[in-house]
Amino acid sequence: MNVTIWNEFRHERQQDKCGEACRKHYPNGIHAYLKEALSAKAPDINFRTASLDEPECGLPDDVINSTDVLLWWGHVAHHEVPDALVQKLRFRILGGMGLIVLHSGHCSKIFGAMMGTSCGLCWREVGEKERVWTVAPGHPIAQGLPESFVVPHTEMYGEPFDIPDDGKVVFMSWYEGGNVFRSGVAFHRDLGKIFYFSPGHETFPIYHDENVQKVILNAIRWATPPAAVNSERRPCPCVKPVEKIYTPNPAM
Ligand code: ZN
Repeated sequence: MNVTIWNEFRHERQQDKCGEACRKHYPNGIHAYLKEALSAKAPDINFRTASLDEPECGLPDDVINSTDVLLWWGHVAHHEVPDALVQKLRFRILGGMGLIVLHSGHCSKIFGAMMGTSCGLCWREVGEKERVWTVAPGHPIAQGLPESFVVPHTEMYGEPFDIPDDGKVVFMSWYEGGNVFRSGVAFHRDLGKIFYFSPGHETFPIYHDENVQKVILNAIRWATPPAAVNSERRPCPCVKPVEKIYTPNPAM
């Protein structure tokens, strides 16, 4: 079971106030922090990290083709992810690989490619409180989570959130400033499972939160493919009928 944690890894290296704030919580990057925190809770999973400025964006074919679940955190450099890489990831997700899109990954090319919508939302960055409500307590991703939990300081992401209607809303957030947001939504795309989870702004220690880590780990287990993943585009074969057809073909 291989989980690859992909991070853009730009904010954490910025030489400004934002970079300083990120490094305070994630000295080696969000990806490195998540790997350490999640590995300690799930020793049966092999966590790897990858980031944008590594060769091939950290995702050469052998890494893609051996990843069961991919985590994605990006913000300022979505446009630098090559379209050819996005297409490879897309086929692998359709073939069964799980995808967990975190926070500002809502605007990533891969999430947009899987959703087919703008994935737009509204936002505000004043460090307000967020209350995350578990609205689908029976869903596998909600297991062990309380009725609600608080993220003390967050960036507000608000409705309307332009995602397709076929997603299962597992978590809903309320913000101190009055906005609401579908903060945890689960999708199926062909054989692949996709989960979007919004808490995770880089200047607050949100990934240090036990409940947030639990959501991500539950999502990884939920999105794990039950069988071998196919990385190739699914063929569209012409098939023979399995029962005899009596209706004459008027075109012949
Ligand atoms: Zn943010």
